[in-house]
Amino acid sequence: MTTHYENYIDGRFVDGAGERIEVRNPASDALLASVPESTDGQVAEAIGAARRAQPGWEKLTAIQRAGYLRAVAQRIRGKADALAEIITREQGKVLGLARVEVDFTADYLDYMAEWARRIEGEIIPSDRPGESIFLMRRPIGVTVGILPWNFPFFLIARKMAPALITGNTIVIKPSEETPINAFEFARLVHEAELPAGVFNLVGGRGASVGAQLSSSPDIDLVSFTGSVATGRRIMLAAGANLTRVNLELGGKAPAIVLGDADIDLAAKAICDSRVINTGQVCNCAERVYVERSVASEFTDKVVARMAAVTYGDPIADPNVDMGPLVNRQGLDKVSAMVQRARGDGAEVILGGGEAPMERGYHYLPTVLVNCRHDMEIMRDEIFGPVLPIQVVDSLEEAVSLGNDSVYGLTSSVFTRDLSKAMQACNTLRFGETYINREHFEAMQGFHAGRRHSGIGGADGKHGLLEYTETQVVYMQHG
Ligand code: NAD
Repeated sequence: MTTHYENYIDGRFVDGAGERIEVRNPASDALLASVPESTDGQVAEAIGAARRAQPGWEKLTAIQRAGYLRAVAQRIRGKADALAEIITREQGKVLGLARVEVDFTADYLDYMAEWARRIEGEIIPSDRPGESIFLMRRPIGVTVGILPWNFPFFLIARKMAPALITGNTIVIKPSEETPINAFEFARLVHEAELPAGVFNLVGGRGASVGAQLSSSPDIDLVSFTGSVATGRRIMLAAGANLTRVNLELGGKAPAIVLGDADIDLAAKAICDSRVINTGQVCNCAERVYVERSVASEFTDKVVARMAAVTYGDPIADPNVDMGPLVNRQGLDKVSAMVQRARGDGAEVILGGGEAPMERGYHYLPTVLVNCRHDMEIMRDEIFGPVLPIQVVDSLEEAVSLGNDSVYGLTSSVFTRDLSKAMQACNTLRFGETYINREHFEAMQGFHAGRRHSGIGGADGKHGLLEYTETQVVYMQHG
């Protein structure tokens, strides 16, 4: 018996008459549930409900809105183990990481709730006698969140929490690969008794439901996380109505290892970063530039670590380091990229093929050397447990190769020399730079990509303000 989920629109679970999308476990291919492929009418209803609810939601005080976010966070904590298992079953990440995702989601809702008393405007001195100038922060209105599959549960909160605390309402469309956790999230929203229409959830595919949402003239902001190609389509669709976009797109993070680095630390951080979520993380090390003097020591340590990585079905064996890739297309894409890298002259010194497993989309932990910057494997997002390494002769060379990319999300540098670290920070053109550590941004930071990695950003004060617009009041009072 699989679960049959329904859309959440205007505070009710509504049965869709349309087609159903089946959701399967990427480790076992077991059928888990079905969700609606929403009809045009249902998508329009969700947008309409969000529109009707918005003025009332905005009128509440921010601290009242915060109470609802905290109530959802509390319910998430109460079901954390069950939610983590759902995420693992439909997405494939290991249980420990799924649990981190669930806890982080609850913390994120609480963190954004804390902003309730801090969404401040400004008072600006006027040139005119007897005038006050006030800059107010207003909600944008109806927002849409379109989500990817790699951190599907957290990304609901990353869109919903800043949108709602600032007085907007939202329609969420989860990825068709991993929608179950989102429908469970909607149940918790319902239990927390958010006013009807403030949070709506519609299932469906990108080309249909996603396209309808982003091309709707009745929405005010599309906040999207996903691939560059889809981001471009969404921006084009939104552009027809001059709808605002917030785009968190792909990455090709360079990890730079200098001759004076702590090589054990660098090897561990970079391998962990490549293995987490089976390499399917936007901000994790996708290419390494290592200085010649330490290249062989670093490579040996990386190979030893990657060779020790275990993989398998994370439900059957909760101790594995890696689960499967999300689906067959993901596995085929990684396999084909490594094949082409071989053809381009890269040498596979570990892994380099599908894992010998009866079921599931598993790829072997893989290390490639003799990589050159002009190879596809050093330029395009891999999104799998594959680490290509290129040897360089200086920090300047590494930075220049790192910057020569359409992606500009994250970057990292390993060195003990503070002045080199600072030189790297001042010359790397990326939204984030990690020094002597890898991956995972803080919720109070600002996660934003440059170039094709995105427009706008998320988290912290600056992420919150992306969900507001300004109104300046010039008050002549005598
Ligand atoms: P994707 O672009 O294939 O899909 C993302 C979402 O967009 C899905 O919900 C899909 O249904 C929808 N979609 C597809 N076509 C659409 C269209 N024409 N109009 C509207 N919506 C459409 O991405 P994915 O494969 O789910 O996720 C992986 C990508 O996400 C990677 O490139 C990764 O780097 C990126 N990502 C970025 C961040 C970040 O913060 N920058 C975080 C996580 C993932």
